[in-house]
Amino acid sequence: MATTYGRVVPHLDLDALRGKLIVIEGADGSGRSTQINLLKDWLESRGFAVEAFGLRRSELVSQELDQAKKSSVLGLHTLTLFYATDFADQLENKIIPALRAGFIVLADRYVYTLMARAIVRGAERQWLESLYSIALVPDAVVYLQVEPEVLIRRAFQKSPTLDYWESGMDLGLSRDMYTSFIKFQKLMQAEFKRMRSVYGFEIVNGNRSIPRIAEELRKKVERVVEGVVYGEITDDGREGGGGWDGGEGDVRGVGLGGGRGGASGDGGREGGTPREPREAPAAPPRDR
Ligand code: ADP
Repeated sequence: MATTYGRVVPHLDLDALRGKLIVIEGADGSGRSTQINLLKDWLESRGFAVEAFGLRRSELVSQELDQAKKSSVLGLHTLTLFYATDFADQLENKIIPALRAGFIVLADRYVYTLMARAIVRGAERQWLESLYSIALVPDAVVYLQVEPEVLIRRAFQKSPTLDYWESGMDLGLSRDMYTSFIKFQKLMQAEFKRMRSVYGFEIVNGNRSIPRIAEELRKKVERVVEGVVYGEITDDGREGGGGWDGGEGDVRGVGLGGGRGGASGDGGREGGTPREPREAPAAPPRDR
């Protein structure tokens, strides 16, 4: 059964969420969009219905958020709440309906980035955990880890200038944008490393070639959607597959505000945050 990090959106029947939520996290230039596009094509070619989700794409506030970012008029807490509004809107109106309809939702970043960005800027961890406790615990979270120096090279392939916020220029780490970018990305990576022990991310080496990373991600995602693809029902009537480790009871997600289970505390195993196996296969084959 699907679960959240604490609070549940009003009137949401978690049992009715038949799809799978897969999150790809990483810095700008870590290759998230490249890999999500490849995964989407691959999943669709196998008959899945796929929905892509990304931060700052809500119809409610995305334009205003872009405006706010340009002007730097909002303080840390106001900007954080703005982002949270964008997330909540998309959770209610995009992610949940898609999961209800049995889609595989591929999220280009999730609450972890929002929390990490706010934490490195000095926001209170507990407040953020409470704010984002409405978030659904994903079926899998992968963090594409790429060296900051490599990120810079890739960023310049996309655009001739570095992004002000992704370089952490508002933090006053350095007046030189290049130096600030490296420092900021190191802070973000340290925060993700810390979060990993709490939320159980799978860390993938994103410094490698696009096809090699894609191959690794496909293997991981295959395990998550396994029961969906083949509709395997185990002897006790439960669906097979689930977590990336496939290990029963390997619930890694720790409630942001309570939520489900606790960290497995196994210290070394990597894995996603699988939901409980369900009784029926999830996503219907896509009409083609
Ligand atoms: P993100 O969505 O994380 O910002 P993109 O997928 O847009 O990153 O990739 C940023 C740039 O880096 C693009 O020009 C892309 O072609 C390139 N790129 C992505 N992944 C790799 C990789 N593994 N190796 C080399 N270049 C890559």
